[in-house]
Amino acid sequence: MTTIGLIGGMSWESTAVYYRLLNEGVRARRGGLHSADMLLHSLDFAPIAEMQAQGDWQGAGAALAESARKLERAGAGCILLATNTMHKLADHITGATMLPFLHLADVTAKAVLAQGAKRPLLLATRFTMEQDFYRGRLAAFGVETVIPEAQERDEVHRVIFEELCRGTIDPASRERYCAIVARAVREQGADAVILGCTEITLLMGQDDVAVPVFDTTALHVAAALDFACEPARQAA
Ligand code: GLU
Repeated sequence: MTTIGLIGGMSWESTAVYYRLLNEGVRARRGGLHSADMLLHSLDFAPIAEMQAQGDWQGAGAALAESARKLERAGAGCILLATNTMHKLADHITGATMLPFLHLADVTAKAVLAQGAKRPLLLATRFTMEQDFYRGRLAAFGVETVIPEAQERDEVHRVIFEELCRGTIDPASRERYCAIVARAVREQGADAVILGCTEITLLMGQDDVAVPVFDTTALHVAAALDFACEPARQAA
């Protein structure tokens, strides 16, 4: 299989999920003791989160470019960036190496289209919900997202950075997220929900809400497995 290059650590709580799901996926496909051939470069999230908060996207982009180059030098055959938010800087990665880059928004858009959802609610960091880099990319596929109201966005963002990225799973936060989904279904015509932050899968899933859930972490892993385990590449 192709060696998967994973840029992680943003936060490591979700990168750990990627690591587990990639290995489980290879075991499910190939059986026995098979596990994922991968390289992980896990960044220290504190300086990255600080750059995000300060709007120093050039600095953060340089860190991602350097990470992609490290993975390429180490022998990765493709690159996966294990955070939705940092896809704002996808160009820094694709500009730094020649490796195939599996863009999370593209993977998500294809899943939404395949299931026929028309107005998915996007739950994510404020950067991802409020800026155009992610919603615009989905829209280019014909996927029009709705986002929570301002106060709800603050709360969704707070839970990500103050709880989920620090390993705290609070049932009260799950209830708040579910209430936000229910209100969006009622008042904004949402017919699905995109867990557009790779940590949200730690808090909630399909069992918690009535509408279809698109879990970007799981979708990204599935796309990576399809790519890396493709028969033509296995021979290589
Ligand atoms: N992992 C998160 C995401 O998918 C948030 C952390 C970050 O800001 O990178 O957006």
